[in-house]
Amino acid sequence: MIKLNEHYTEIGNSYLFAEVARRVSEYRNSHPDRKVISLGIGDITQPIVPAVIDAITAATAEMGKTETLRGYAPYEGYDFLVQAILKHDFADRGIAIEADEIFVSDGAKSDTGNIGDILGADNRIAITDPAYPVYVDTNRMAGREIELLPCTPANGFVPDFPEQTADVIYLCYPNNPTGTVLTKAVLKLWVDYALKHKSLILYDAAYEAFVSEADIPRSIFEIEGAREVAIEFRSFSKTAGFTGLRAGYTVVPKDLTAKTSKGETLSLNAMWRRRQSTKFNGTAYVIQRGAEAVYSPEGQRQTKETIEYYMQNAKIIKSGLESIGLKCYGGTNAPYIWCRTPDNMTSWDFFDLLLNKAQVVGTPGSGFGTAGEGFFRFTAFGHKNDTVEAIKRMTSV
Ligand code: PLP
Repeated sequence: MIKLNEHYTEIGNSYLFAEVARRVSEYRNSHPDRKVISLGIGDITQPIVPAVIDAITAATAEMGKTETLRGYAPYEGYDFLVQAILKHDFADRGIAIEADEIFVSDGAKSDTGNIGDILGADNRIAITDPAYPVYVDTNRMAGREIELLPCTPANGFVPDFPEQTADVIYLCYPNNPTGTVLTKAVLKLWVDYALKHKSLILYDAAYEAFVSEADIPRSIFEIEGAREVAIEFRSFSKTAGFTGLRAGYTVVPKDLTAKTSKGETLSLNAMWRRRQSTKFNGTAYVIQRGAEAVYSPEGQRQTKETIEYYMQNAKIIKSGLESIGLKCYGGTNAPYIWCRTPDNMTSWDFFDLLLNKAQVVGTPGSGFGTAGEGFFRFTAFGHKNDTVEAIKRMTSV
């Protein structure tokens, strides 16, 4: 008899975006003449930049010749990409990270989801609420105890420290879904908390490329002491449009340790290497060449232009919604605008209202956690024309 991992029965069936898609499809079927505009799921819309396409094309040609063919990639990534990451994301910003602390992967979703493999089931977990659903769901799958840390206008979207001391804390800044950030001073308080309580911070920096203000950290390793307490997840998805190409990386400092039940102290870097070499077979060579090209001077210039394009959309959305009296957060250092629903509507009621009256799709805040109820997320990843049209429709409803 097959026995199920019972924890899977506790996570529920309905994935947020599946329900959004179901409602949109139902609306489209009954209103085939109306154009629905999506400021919802948050996938990219701008083409991959030429520097990356050229690198991928050249690398693909290499695969067609015996002399330059590449097979399995190293589990931790090719040295050419690791060196580019080290230089541009860390050394040039005065951050000391070593090559064997970088683990190239197929993206931050896998890594934030898989990191739990090396952590014991009895760790107490703290996760900000609302949050990217992967953190809560994967910890529920493993049967771990979770304390949610509400992030609301009342605390300026800065979570309070957990009531029960947490062993592992998930922080994501710039934040999905709220678009809010932590200053260096506030992040330092969390690093100090982790140092004091010997906790681990799992820091998701998937949106670091959108940071525009000087006082906002792009990496937790900008904070003194972070090497002793933090693992950082990075992604090329939003930085350079790799959502369909798949590349990211995770930084696991060699200073990090965890205890076994027998009292042994072991290296998390060594354990993650062991995990990856067992369950992961490397990111495709051609994709790693594409990721390397993101760091070339043309790649940097071109990807910056794309990010500016999205951030223009963010401005259009935020100022449009504010002009009709909606209270909005985020949208300055992040491609998400988090707004309060009008008249205390629930997130899903507001979703239905916008879909029916303006044919605009966003994401109900309650789908990201209890503290997201009464909020709504708009994404800046759309086409500019659609974004302008969506705001025009919403402001006239
Ligand atoms: N982390 C956050 C906070 C995200 O919002 C997303 C994607 O939306 C990811 C990670 C996933 O990134 P990737 O495409 O690298 O798997």
